[in-house]
Amino acid sequence: MLSNLAEIEQEINSFSVNNPEELEAFRLKFISRNGLVTGLFEELKSASRDEKPILGKKLNEVKKLAEGKFNSLKEQFENAVEAGDKLDLTLPPAEFSIGREHLISQTLAEMVKIFREIGFKVTDGPELEDEFYNFDALNTPAHHPARDMQDTFYVQNKFDKSKKYVLRTHTSPVQIRTMLANKPPLRIISPGKVFRNETVTYKNYFMFHQLEGLYVDKNVSMRDLKGVLSYFFKKFYGENTQIRFIPSFFPFTEPSGQIDISCFLCEGKGCKTCKETGWLEIGGCGMVDPNVFKAVNIDPEEFTGYAFGMGMERLTMMKYGITDIRILYQNDVRFLDQF
Ligand SMILES: [Zn+2]
Repeated sequence: MLSNLAEIEQEINSFSVNNPEELEAFRLKFISRNGLVTGLFEELKSASRDEKPILGKKLNEVKKLAEGKFNSLKEQFENAVEAGDKLDLTLPPAEFSIGREHLISQTLAEMVKIFREIGFKVTDGPELEDEFYNFDALNTPAHHPARDMQDTFYVQNKFDKSKKYVLRTHTSPVQIRTMLANKPPLRIISPGKVFRNETVTYKNYFMFHQLEGLYVDKNVSMRDLKGVLSYFFKKFYGENTQIRFIPSFFPFTEPSGQIDISCFLCEGKGCKTCKETGWLEIGGCGMVDPNVFKAVNIDPEEFTGYAFGMGMERLTMMKYGITDIRILYQNDVRFLDQF
């Protein structure tokens, strides 16, 4: 009987079960009322007194083996049936999409990289600003049109009504904060979000990003400014890019200039994007106004400096031929995925 048991044990282990029908065959062969294992229990009754305990123990082990195999396979098939009810395995897999950096973040990273290469340090400041940093210290007196409610988002201090805050309208307050906290020489860029109370159109948005630069030292001239901007735009738009300054006005710089770059699409020949002029307006710049230096306790007799600013959305839109600013912030992945 022992050799018989070993044989059955081997048979149980090697019995191949791939579907519920085969499992039923397994049950009938080994553990049903007429099965092999059950039959051996009958035989055990006629075994000798000495043999009985050994054979009984071994037989129980074989019985457990058969039942164990049966139960686990049964469970497996039941789960498969259950899952099969919910899953249609013939469906094509769902599209899998990983995220990517927003186009404006890509532009930001590229701009910062170029300016860092020539020694500019990145500085940061709050988006909710005190009027002093956003306007007063930047030589923008109370009656200046830039303070008009049309352009600026004001925020009232609930506990002190005399104090008014603004959502910064430019990143220039970061320059003021930096100049108040540090002594020249200073060579910084301040990229970040700015806010204007504007009607949203294809070219205006109530929030956009600026990158401003400031360099303060002894004997800084307009020529240094042109050199730095020329270097930047050649890196950003291509080696053939030219720049020019056109007289302009900003309260915080004197003299002030509008920055134009040669149209990189037609290379100055004239096209639709540059309105046939060969030039594209891209930002503002100038020499820091002595009144700004006085507001931050820097002696304008000893130091001079230049400042410049540009909108990242405009730079990005021109670079990639995007004609509507709103599409940048609709978070449509079909658009954002292209960059
Ligand atoms: Zn052009």
